[in-house]
Amino acid sequence: EKCLSRADKVKKLNAFVRILKNESLNCASESQIKFQHGKVRSKIEGVAIAVKDNFCTKGITTTCSSKMLNDFVPTYNATVVQRLKDAGSILIGKTNMDEFAMGSGTVDSIHGVTKNIWGSDIPYMLGNKSVNDGIPSKGGTFERVAGGSSGGSAVAVATGSCFAALGSDTGGSTRNPAAYCGIVGLKPTYGSVSRFGLIPLVNSMDVPGIMARSVSDVADVFNVISGFDENDSTTLERDKSAVVLNDSFNISSIKVGIPKEYHCPGMSPVVIDAWKRVANLLEEAGATVSQVSLPHTGYSIACYSVLNQCEVASNMARYDGLEYGLRPEQTKSTEQLYADSRKHGFNDVVRGRILAGNYFLIQSNYEKYFMKAMKVRRLIANDFKNVWSKVDVLLTPVTLSEPPLLKEFIKLDNREQCSTQDYCTQPANMSGCPAISIPVCLSASSLPISLQLMAPNFQEQSLLSASHWLE
Ligand code: GLN
Repeated sequence: EKCLSRADKVKKLNAFVRILKNESLNCASESQIKFQHGKVRSKIEGVAIAVKDNFCTKGITTTCSSKMLNDFVPTYNATVVQRLKDAGSILIGKTNMDEFAMGSGTVDSIHGVTKNIWGSDIPYMLGNKSVNDGIPSKGGTFERVAGGSSGGSAVAVATGSCFAALGSDTGGSTRNPAAYCGIVGLKPTYGSVSRFGLIPLVNSMDVPGIMARSVSDVADVFNVISGFDENDSTTLERDKSAVVLNDSFNISSIKVGIPKEYHCPGMSPVVIDAWKRVANLLEEAGATVSQVSLPHTGYSIACYSVLNQCEVASNMARYDGLEYGLRPEQTKSTEQLYADSRKHGFNDVVRGRILAGNYFLIQSNYEKYFMKAMKVRRLIANDFKNVWSKVDVLLTPVTLSEPPLLKEFIKLDNREQCSTQDYCTQPANMSGCPAISIPVCLSASSLPISLQLMAPNFQEQSLLSASHWLE
């Protein structure tokens, strides 16, 4: 009930596209009975969790923030949603996102823009201080971007409307909004969490992401949703021992790499300062900190934009107005039906990416763009492979700055927004490695700043242990 009332109080930030009031209250009573009978199903029994609107939820509309799926009611739950339910958690609502997860700000949605609580005029308590004390915010002039594309999930968690939320992460969409909203955001290893029922953006890079206010909350959710799923052939059958965090983790046993290529033009001095301070802190605590190199980092964004658009061109073919998607009322021919369905169903960003993807894939361009991008992706992934022989984790910024002003951000087009926002987050999706965004500067008089830790594939245990030490 408290989560629902909090969600209602912060309604104007537009985190949710749908709140499941009655359903969640029913689930809460069911959990109460489990507690009374000592039959608690998991650590997240009775915990309110929000889910991004690109995860299929049985009987509940799943719009991807697109007109194309405005009335789409899935007949099944995504594996991650089903696992959360089976573990006794309460699905409190579906959250806002950029259309089909294409974006970095949650500014391109049929449900409207999601706004950050930091910089808003809604009081938010950090300890016993309101975070908005020192930040002038009246009249919307100081409104900040929530980050994206899972901005609704991040704001839902940051405002206390739920304890954890699911996002998706293809190029940074969980870590970016987590960083801007001052919460923890994990992109697990590709293949460790099922994508079944997550409406695809880039199948070869999409991963369900987890957001919460602490690393241990993230670990609890990860333990519930990870593991092999027969409905997703990219999930791996592995020893499924749960991630266990303890306060006695020995930080002096780890080697931390600082990749020099992440120090890029446009990075703000406050971010660089936080990065240096945390590196020093780790060194003082006994960790071995050294500079390393991932030489192909700078190519990641260009390579990603080719691969993203190629997979988008192929993925979006299913939205033809017949099987799925908006069906125009009057059509003269089948061709016209497809055309009208896409013209009215998709926004400019989605249509632009379909067009570019098909251009990259036509026979005369295939080698020049698609194949070349695949080779560059391999070089980027090999950079990571090489570096893991020297260090256990990498420490980098998540974003180049604090959350930008909304009014400045929306002046940029989607391509400009993404190319700067995703610089530090995207390479992890190329390599598949787990990566986490952890708030390192949370003070009542400033905006949140977060840093990213990355670890070798399937090393969530060491990644989350180091993150837990840091938080
Ligand atoms: N900003 C990137 C894009 O628009 C990444 C999005 C994501 O991770 N879903 O493609």
